[in-house]
Amino acid sequence: KLSWIARLKQGLAKTSSSLTTLFVGAKIDDDLYDELEAALLTADAGVEATMHLLDNLKRKVKEEKLTEAEQVKAALKVLLLDLLKPLQKPFELGRYQPLVMMIAGVNGAGKTTTIGKLAKHMHAHNQSVVLAAGDTFRAAAREQLMVWGERNNITVIAQESGDPAAVAFDAVASAKARGTNVAMVDTAGRLPTQLHLMEELKKIKRVIGKGMDGAPQEVVLVIDGNTGQNALTQVKAFDDALQLTGLIITKLDGTAKGGVLAAIAKTRPIPVYFIGVGEQIEDLQAFNAQEFVDALLQ
Ligand code: GDP
Repeated sequence: KLSWIARLKQGLAKTSSSLTTLFVGAKIDDDLYDELEAALLTADAGVEATMHLLDNLKRKVKEEKLTEAEQVKAALKVLLLDLLKPLQKPFELGRYQPLVMMIAGVNGAGKTTTIGKLAKHMHAHNQSVVLAAGDTFRAAAREQLMVWGERNNITVIAQESGDPAAVAFDAVASAKARGTNVAMVDTAGRLPTQLHLMEELKKIKRVIGKGMDGAPQEVVLVIDGNTGQNALTQVKAFDDALQLTGLIITKLDGTAKGGVLAAIAKTRPIPVYFIGVGEQIEDLQAFNAQEFVDALLQ
């Protein structure tokens, strides 16, 4: 199996190759900038980040009197790094007792997989975990989760016909009573009813806060790195409703274009705590802007 960096590079290879090849033997002229603009937009960087990068790149080329395409490429790398650096923020455990973490994301984003990876990460750092299963409308799914919890030493709190806000409240109360280090609150990615998802999520957050002052301290959105501009739409909608504290971007090992991080950095610079680079439990990595830029512009 390839290392996670190799898989990230593989995932971003298409974007990387289209960004890199346009510099090969190129003259520094409007054609080059036009091609770069198209490549960035194709990579899901969005209009704002693309224009930001292009404007600054042109200025830099002029100021520093760059004459070689390779120098322009290097300058682009620096600008990308400057743009993405603010997204890099370590996810610190042990700051609160318990740390209450609400996890949101639309179905298919990789939320369930990510929760498993996170629990493993927390155990590796000697943190005990209780999980509030707020996304278990089907009995079978609930059963499955209970089995998973037992196998992995995680107390799972779920309720038949449960109100997810009540389940979350219970999990936080249990963590407080038993000294559990982390209470993770899973939430629905789609509702089986006509209820508005955002209203339900807001309610869960509110009810958690009634049970414990300042909680949840973390509200994290899981997004699929392959969904391009749609990912940005999700970030905006969930941030407006829940005031996100962090993001986890999954599936960057597949055929992701990667530019969406630039779009997020320019429009909603919310910290990216982790990136998902595979389906296995260990395939969750802290986001590092330099590593990411190196993979994006190889
Ligand atoms: P949920 O509906 O948001 O809970 O999504 P799941 O956790 O069930 O994930 C949906 C699919 O995406 C599953 O097939 C996962 O194995 C896959 N998946 C999740 N994260 C990653 C990742 O980082 N990389 C890859 N390649 N697949 C992932």
